[in-house]
Amino acid sequence: MPSIKDIMQTMEYGPAPESNSEVRAWLDERAAGLGHFINGRFTAPGDDLIEVVNPATEEVIGRVPKGVAADVDAAVRAARAALPKWAALSGFERARYLYAIARHIQKRERFFAVLETMDNGKTIRETRDIDIPLVARHFYHHAGWAELVDDEFPDHTPVGVCGQIIPWNFPLLMLAWKVAPALAAGNTVVLKPADLTPMTASAFAELLVEVGLPAGVVNIVHGDGETGAAIAGHADIDKVAFTGSTDVGRVIRRQIAGSGKKLSLELGGKSPFIVLEDADLDGAVEGVVDAIWFNQGEVCCAGSRILVQEGVARRFFEKLTQRMKTLRVGDPLDKTMDIGAVVSKKQLSRIEALLETGKAEGATLNVAPVELPKRGAFCAPGFFTGTASSHTVSQVEIFGPVATTQTFRTLGEAVALANDTRYGLAASVWSENVNRAIELAARVKAGVVWINGTNMFDAAAPFGGYRESGFGREGGRSGMLEYLALPADKKGKPRPAPTLVPQVQPFTGKADLPEIDITAKLYIGGKQARADGGQSYTVIGKSGQAIGQAGLANRKDVRNAVEAAGKATGWGNVTGHNRAQVLYFLAENLSQRRAEFAAALAASGASPKAEDEVELTIRRAFWYAAQADKFDGAVTATKSRHVTMTVNEPFGTMGIVAPDEAPLLSLLSLILPAIALGNRVVAVASQSHPLIAARLYQVLETSDIPGGVVNLLTGDRDVLARTLAEHDDVAALWYCGSEEGSAMVEKASVGNLKSTWSDYGRLRDWRDPKQGQGREFLRRACQVKTIWLPYGE
Ligand code: NDP
Repeated sequence: MPSIKDIMQTMEYGPAPESNSEVRAWLDERAAGLGHFINGRFTAPGDDLIEVVNPATEEVIGRVPKGVAADVDAAVRAARAALPKWAALSGFERARYLYAIARHIQKRERFFAVLETMDNGKTIRETRDIDIPLVARHFYHHAGWAELVDDEFPDHTPVGVCGQIIPWNFPLLMLAWKVAPALAAGNTVVLKPADLTPMTASAFAELLVEVGLPAGVVNIVHGDGETGAAIAGHADIDKVAFTGSTDVGRVIRRQIAGSGKKLSLELGGKSPFIVLEDADLDGAVEGVVDAIWFNQGEVCCAGSRILVQEGVARRFFEKLTQRMKTLRVGDPLDKTMDIGAVVSKKQLSRIEALLETGKAEGATLNVAPVELPKRGAFCAPGFFTGTASSHTVSQVEIFGPVATTQTFRTLGEAVALANDTRYGLAASVWSENVNRAIELAARVKAGVVWINGTNMFDAAAPFGGYRESGFGREGGRSGMLEYLALPADKKGKPRPAPTLVPQVQPFTGKADLPEIDITAKLYIGGKQARADGGQSYTVIGKSGQAIGQAGLANRKDVRNAVEAAGKATGWGNVTGHNRAQVLYFLAENLSQRRAEFAAALAASGASPKAEDEVELTIRRAFWYAAQADKFDGAVTATKSRHVTMTVNEPFGTMGIVAPDEAPLLSLLSLILPAIALGNRVVAVASQSHPLIAARLYQVLETSDIPGGVVNLLTGDRDVLARTLAEHDDVAALWYCGSEEGSAMVEKASVGNLKSTWSDYGRLRDWRDPKQGQGREFLRRACQVKTIWLPYGE
């Protein structure tokens, strides 16, 4: 042991281990195994147990059972039985439970921090200062939402029984992110922790017993991927919330397609860390420490692609190399360590294999000069130089403490590099120029952007991804909405099949109403376009007679329309005020032609009260015009000295598939919210009553809606819906059709994991403003971007 005199010479850190005796005693008492937590009780662990290993020491610290279908079933039954009473409690009563959980966590912070470190391998500094305080913060914050749920979310009800599947990188924090909002909103829960890190979830279950949470409100089933699949697939689960890899996210999306279960996915990322030439370089270097070396790089939103402006790149990398030399890797219970063990030997091999791939592809791996402990799953931190966007390591998550690097010259190039990924979870921007920083924040496609900071989280700040990083948000108001339902989500009789099957036939009828076009085209890129195949189908009117022909669009027409929409990017950049003006103009133009639309609707036979439908459509256009500059984001109360903004951003190109009922009103009830918020739309009009949509072309043309913002197709609903669902340039899809069609689009959407909103073949009363109009449509037409902006010195 060195003397103080020696230490004064070398200035080396001495060891500063955190005591784990309390946790050891707790583990020893449970050495035979921890059972599932079902209906307020722990089950007997049984014999077939999964060993839980401390990755830093390779010791087995516990054992948990692998949940099978019967365990999942028992947990779901308990959650279902507990639901009515829990949902019926007043917000105040639920708030008291959540508050008690927060208080108990706080009282036990050190215990949970040590247990988490031993289970996961992450450093005690992080579990003590970040994970566990954030867990408590999450329960406090959501105690507040429980209290306010009736005031803040009128008309909403709990979704029901929630199946929640969480990963191993922030075990208790991810549990809190899932359980707190679910409970606050009045749901009950069946949760599966990752089999690598189940210990803090079990300790949490014990805490729930102490708090006296009613039995069945939270159930914890241990197990692996098969257990997770049994939860997601259980017929009596109403919502699935998943955090983990994009691959498993896809599996779950496909597995529950068509079931009507609400789904939120928080998946992988390859987040850019952008350093502009006017950045505080020392600050940015510290940022890298928190971006990629925090939590051993096992962070879904890790700043894993460092992009540096050329003029400062050399200096930046020199500073980074110097800083890297001071990193300490070792015993995670030692308070002087920066980096602990990765979660398992298997994860270490995965990281090492990717690092080898990076080197084989020509990149140089720069690693910290650290001596790794002989035992345990330790990985030296580092960064690659010489990486290009095409390299495997630039595209896939390493999920270890190693970043890739690239340089850029202009802001435009930085944006292009930042967005050159299939993911869109987070980004960091470093610049002392607030204008440039905010411009970049706006142009990066990511759900969270930190300016001059990184990896900051707060219960009030929505977190979640764009693109293949998933959909749905956790935290704040947006997070609560993932656990609430509206009456319109549940009601509704089955929708009858379309009365008209599009068939190519020569037109033999008689257009007995002179104002009815008999050869309608499609509407693509602001122009009327003949269907690609040159085909039309005959449309039957009120008393069974043929009243005209509609264009029969095919897959190529969908692609053309998506391309045209893709070019109309200016629409997303015009102000809400401008969009409102255009929508008012559209309403006005529609109003001037109300008699013509009413006659056409009456002739179609689709609308018993044609004039009312036209009138309601005009009103709806006014309502969304009014909303275009009012559906605001917010500034949320997070950490001090941060302005944390939530901005409602358009998706880009949205697909819309309209139903047969109320063919004018329903079509515009779907298109208007989407374009009000700056999206471009490719809409498939009612299959059975397509001519009313064709009549809109002229209204759109005369309303100053730029070409490509609204594209209208007619034809076979489900053929066109499938193509839209499969198209990678369509970012979101709303489908009103059949039950099978809903399953089909949800399955077909997995390619780019687009956000979908299907009605599972249930009718909606489009005339009722509570069902056919409202903030829910606007909410579904945008994705929340959370931008963290610090201020002060
Ligand atoms: P997974 O996505 O496989 O695991 C996440 C959770 O899902 C775990 O609880 C897992 O169970 C469970 N699970 C696995 N398969 C299914 C299934 N078919 N249905 C339902 N649940 C399932 O991540 P891995 O642990 O395999 O890690 C692999 C890679 O994924 C990492 O290297 C990293 O790149 C990424 N990842 C991303 C995370 C993020 O936060 N975005 C978190 C974790 C990993 P169990 O682990 O018990 O088998």
